[in-house]
Amino acid sequence: MLNIVLFGPPGAGKGTQSERLIEKYGLVHLSTGDIFRANIKGETELGLLAKSFMDKGALVPDEVTINMLKSEVLKHENAKGFIFDGFPRTNAQATALDELLSSLNTSITMMLALDVEEDELRERLKKRAEFSGRPDDADPAIIQNRINVYKNETAPVKAFYEAQNKFISIQGIGEIDEISTRLYQAIDNR
Ligand code: ADP
Repeated sequence: MLNIVLFGPPGAGKGTQSERLIEKYGLVHLSTGDIFRANIKGETELGLLAKSFMDKGALVPDEVTINMLKSEVLKHENAKGFIFDGFPRTNAQATALDELLSSLNTSITMMLALDVEEDELRERLKKRAEFSGRPDDADPAIIQNRINVYKNETAPVKAFYEAQNKFISIQGIGEIDEISTRLYQAIDNR
């Protein structure tokens, strides 16, 4: 299997690049943010809970997120591989993902981390707010909170994959096509 963690701060382009990678490599795309938003739209219990954290720009608690992610993975028994987009966002989530994949006799192939500087992220999220309809994009204070949560809680997950020699940094600034090409090269050279 080809199992990729697509990593990066909010606004780095994980969603956009995931769309291309799933098509090129025939992978299943699991975006925890998208799954939470679908639950909010469907007014499920999980959605209601997730919304209270997402609206503040905080992380949904690990236990809830991990259980949700596990059940999504188990829905795709015959997958050729997965793109994990927006997960893992904490070391506890990374450990849980390793355990889950190991129980399925597979593992993470690599973490591809999109590197984008903070000013550029703020610009992109401000622009995205015009069409995304996401409440967490609309307010600069919430955007800043998401960037801070990324720095404090999520960025340390890089070290988790570095320790396994699975971490690859990808320059996330430039044309969308250029960035895709960098990702394809990293995958094809594995
Ligand atoms: P972005 O990366 O642009 O912030 P996402 O759609 O990945 O957007 O995430 C939106 C929000 O969903 C996060 O701010 C957080 O509240 C919640 N969320 C998504 N993935 C996770 C996760 N793995 N753990 C905890 N919360 C998450």
